[in-house]
Amino acid sequence: MTSYVFITGGVVSSLGKGITSACLGAILEARGLTISMIKLDPYINVDPGTMSPFQHGEVFVTHDGTETDLDLGHYERFVRTATGGRNSNFTTGRIYESVIGKERRGDYLGATVQVIPHITDEIKQSVAKGAGDADICLVEIGGTVGDIESLPFLEAIRQMGVELGHDRVVYVHLTLVPFISTSSEIKTKPTQHSVKELRSIGIQPDILVCRSEQPLPDEQRKKIALFTNVQEKAVVSAYDADDLYKIPMMMHEQGLDDIVVRQLGMDLPKADLSEWEAIVEAKENPTSEVDVAMVGKYMDLKDSYISLVEALMHGGIHTRTRVNIHFIESSEIEEQGTECLRSMDGIVVPGGFGDRGIEGKIETVRFARENGIPYLGICLGMQVAVIEAARNLAGLEAAMSTEFDKKTPHPVVALITEWQTQSGDVELRDEESDMGGTMRLGAQQITLKKGSLAAITYGKKIIEERHRHRYEVNNNYRDRLEKAGLRFSGLSVDDLVEVVEIPNHPWFLASQFHPEFTSNPRDGHPLFSGFISATRKHHEGELPEVAEA
Ligand code: GLN
Repeated sequence: MTSYVFITGGVVSSLGKGITSACLGAILEARGLTISMIKLDPYINVDPGTMSPFQHGEVFVTHDGTETDLDLGHYERFVRTATGGRNSNFTTGRIYESVIGKERRGDYLGATVQVIPHITDEIKQSVAKGAGDADICLVEIGGTVGDIESLPFLEAIRQMGVELGHDRVVYVHLTLVPFISTSSEIKTKPTQHSVKELRSIGIQPDILVCRSEQPLPDEQRKKIALFTNVQEKAVVSAYDADDLYKIPMMMHEQGLDDIVVRQLGMDLPKADLSEWEAIVEAKENPTSEVDVAMVGKYMDLKDSYISLVEALMHGGIHTRTRVNIHFIESSEIEEQGTECLRSMDGIVVPGGFGDRGIEGKIETVRFARENGIPYLGICLGMQVAVIEAARNLAGLEAAMSTEFDKKTPHPVVALITEWQTQSGDVELRDEESDMGGTMRLGAQQITLKKGSLAAITYGKKIIEERHRHRYEVNNNYRDRLEKAGLRFSGLSVDDLVEVVEIPNHPWFLASQFHPEFTSNPRDGHPLFSGFISATRKHHEGELPEVAEA
């Protein structure tokens, strides 16, 4: 029988509710429990797949190909037993879509369909589906208490508390305790108000996690407890951590896992956090330091590439390297040239959509290739590597992806329907000629060529990685590009290009898939460890090994 921990947020958004939830999952898992994790998002989009990274940060893709909220990335990085997927992220849009579908089919037998009970029932059923058979399911409710949009979700979790009872449901509320520097005072009032708001809709929190700059002094902890009707020991201080991976320890030291398991009546061994301690130890004792440039489009908004940034850090943890990431707008390269890349030990071009800055990315690849700087291209970062090789190695001057130039004479990257037409394989039908091509999403098998850098780096021939893209390398150009010096070292089951390399380069590897979605701090990921090792060698002036062609 699954028990539930519901995590709500108050006062302001962006307090790190996702990370708090993930860390709570980690310390509960460290006590031997199996965990499932769900994110309920109050917005009306059916999924975040259509949302701009400017609006919502990264879209995280799960194994089963669901485009989800970036918080699921935190869950998968912190919790091993949580298998994220379609039933781990529900938005208001998806809940309504399902209810309206049922209404149209006549499933409600003529009833007037209402928020209570129909929407709230749908939410409860969705939560039960996502919980699976885990010991504890952690459910994070997006948004801030007091928002109109989150009300049906809060009502549904209130009902679950009544239905399942206090020994199967724990309510955690995350708030902000600000420090007012002009008067040197710590303010508890916003927390009091936020809990008041929550109680007004019938939810009494069991635990408060208070975000603040400094550890919460006892006096304020007492005051908050008194005014919010929460036990003093259940007022947990989540002060700013200089390292994300210290948070599980910070929470455990204050007894957060104990409070949860005790309320749920569970008798469990102590938490084993040695893996998390080892991560912090490795991060704090690097044996070398590297500078890595990330050249992309949304560089002001680090959340757009959060999994990739994390994966590079994991590469650092597993090679004991401090990784300094320099975020560079590719349009800046277009305006000011590639000189800013010269001092870098490695260059990453991440995934992306849309043509702004595309020439800057192509120039970036050229610089990395010609100067022997380790290069890691992800998705669009692989496509630009193919375009660069086509232009500068194969002499196909105007080569481009049809995503950015529909009329290019050399569509080396294109929608499958486009390049199949080019080779005369199929007739291009009108409805297929527009952008409506579907995305390749989720985990798929890839076969790596024996002896390639990819095969050496992964240490195996068959791998599985996640995808999120529309355009593919045009197979009609493969021979020409290969003769010019590009190696296609990974192919999908249906013969699509998955990995490209430049064999006579110290370390040049680009993938159509997104390895960052499967990297986590404890296990690391071969591609990121391999890349960071190469940047270290570059930094130390040793040429990385060149893979056999
Ligand atoms: N825009 C490219 C495509 O759709 C690459 C996508 C990506 O980098 N995620 O194929």
